[in-house]
Amino acid sequence: MNPLRSPSENPGGPLHAGPVAGSWIGSTWRPDVLLIERGEENGQVARRVRAALPGVPVELLDETGMEHSTLGHDNTARLDPFGAGKRRLLLHRDRGRLFSACQAGTPGLICCNYLTLSLVSNCPYDCSYCFLQEYLSNNPTLRAITNVEDALSEVAAALDAHPERRFRIGTGEIADSLALEPLLGHAAALVPFAAARPNLVLELKTKSDCVDDILGLDSRGRVVVSWSLTPKAVIDSEESGAASLGQRLAAAARCQQAGYRVGFHFDPLIDYEGCEEGYRDVITALAAAVEMRRVAWLSLGSLRTTSHLRGIIRDRHPGSRVLLAEQVPMRDGKWRVFQARRVAIYRRLAGWLREAAPEVRLYLCMEAPEVWERVFGRPAPDAPSLQAQLSS
Ligand code: SF4
Repeated sequence: MNPLRSPSENPGGPLHAGPVAGSWIGSTWRPDVLLIERGEENGQVARRVRAALPGVPVELLDETGMEHSTLGHDNTARLDPFGAGKRRLLLHRDRGRLFSACQAGTPGLICCNYLTLSLVSNCPYDCSYCFLQEYLSNNPTLRAITNVEDALSEVAAALDAHPERRFRIGTGEIADSLALEPLLGHAAALVPFAAARPNLVLELKTKSDCVDDILGLDSRGRVVVSWSLTPKAVIDSEESGAASLGQRLAAAARCQQAGYRVGFHFDPLIDYEGCEEGYRDVITALAAAVEMRRVAWLSLGSLRTTSHLRGIIRDRHPGSRVLLAEQVPMRDGKWRVFQARRVAIYRRLAGWLREAAPEVRLYLCMEAPEVWERVFGRPAPDAPSLQAQLSS
C-alpha cells in the first residue's frame, strides 16, 4: 500500500498523480511538437534535436510568433495549459540575461548564495509539488536556448572579473539539468567549460538517469552531479515521469566511477505517515550505491509551497497527498510543516546521514538560524561561510 494514497486510490492502478508530459523512448523524451525560432533551425542544437526526434512535427516561428505561441484549442490544453506546455519544446535564441542569483534567497533565512544559469525553462517531468507550476504558469512551452556559447561567455565574464572569488553555479533551478541531455547536449558543453575554470563549481541537479553523454568527459573535479532523492512511495505517486530511485542511484554510481563529484538533496522532504522509515531506506540504498566519503554535499529542505501553488496542486494533482501534513504559512510567505516537526525529521535524517557520511558537508536549505541550531546543536554558519564551504 502506498502511504501517500488513500486506500480507495491504491488498488493496482497507476500511481502517477499527474499527466506524464510528452512520450518517452527509454530515457529520451519526445515532445508532441518541436517549435524552432526561425533562423535557428540549422544551428548545432536544432540539428541535433531534430535528428533525435524523427517523426516529431516541426514548426518554425518568428520572434513575435514565439512570444504569442499558443497551445491550440484542444480540451486538454484548455483544462491544463501548464501540462500541455510541457508537451511542446521550443528552441530559441535567448537575448536576455541567463545568469542570476537563485530566486530562493530570503532575508532572515540562511542562504548558500547559489547562482543559476537558465539554459532550459520547464521540465518534462511533472512532480505534483513542483514550484514551476506557479512560477512558469503562463509559459505555453518548455523552452531551451540554442545559443549556449553566449551563455557561457556571460558566465566567463563574471568569473574572469572576480578571479579571487569562488562561484557555485547550477542549471537546475527552473529545469532539470539532465532530463533533456539526450536531446540537447547542453551539459556536455558545460562540463569542459567548468573543467577549465578554477574558480567555478558547477552543479547539475537532476531526477533523471541521463548521464551517458557526460560520462566520458573529464570534469577535473569542478562539476557536481546531484540528485534529489525521495522514498519510493513519493517517487511512485508524486514525481510523474522521473527516474526511479534505483535508476537515480545507479546513475550516481556511474558518475562517481567516471570521476565526477556527486551530491544528494533530500529536498523537498515530504512529510507523510511513515516518512522517516521511507527516508531511512533511501539513505541505506544510497550508502550501498555510492562511496559516501567522496560525496560533495548533502542537503535537507522541507517542502515549501505558497497559497497559490497549493491551489494549483489541488487542481492539477487531485490524488496528491503532499499537502496532507499540517502546514502553516511562515514569515517568508512560504507554507511549511510546523517547526517542531521539521526539526524532528531533520534530526532523524541528519543522524542517519552522519552515520553513513561523517565528514560530508550537510546543510539545510531555506531555514532560519534557530532551526539550524536545533538540528545540529551549534550556531548556524553565516551565508558567506556556507557559500565558501560549498564552493570548494
Ligand atoms: S524534476 Fe524538478 S523541475 Fe522537474 S517537475 Fe519535478 S520538481 Fe519540477
